[in-house]
Amino acid sequence: MQEEIRAVLKTVDDPELPNVSVADLGMVHEVTVVGGDVFITMVPTFAGCPALDFIQKNVKTAVEEVDWVKGCEVQFSFEEKWSTDAITDEGKSQLKKHGIAPPPENYRPGEEWTVDCPYCGSDYTSMENVFGPTACRSILYCTSCRNPFEAMKPVVDYVIN
Ligand SMILES: [Zn+2]
Repeated sequence: MQEEIRAVLKTVDDPELPNVSVADLGMVHEVTVVGGDVFITMVPTFAGCPALDFIQKNVKTAVEEVDWVKGCEVQFSFEEKWSTDAITDEGKSQLKKHGIAPPPENYRPGEEWTVDCPYCGSDYTSMENVFGPTACRSILYCTSCRNPFEAMKPVVDYVIN
């Protein structure tokens, strides 16, 4: 039954990233099934993203559509730390389809980070002072194919205010 719920979570998209599911973003921390009740603990991705309420509602709605589910409770755990390493390979390839470069792996805070251009695959080194449409993303320009693209900023650790 857990498996079934996890499959449902693969169909719930991040509101800011259509077709990239909350499961593939590595946001699902724990799924507990007690009788017909489902308890889900999720890890928020970027602290700056205001979409948590939406995600909570969307997950609840999707899970409660499953026949045997009586109720679903969704909680965000701020104790668990999400990192961009939690994004699945499927999630990464979906991000690329959106022209969004998945975040770099093994990033250490304070370091410059490089991503591969989602269009031509060439390495791109970020500039620290770039701003994107949300706190989570940066807009970069590929120096090889000259396409602008978005990159998810790497997150290893953050503090909730
Ligand atoms: Zn390129």
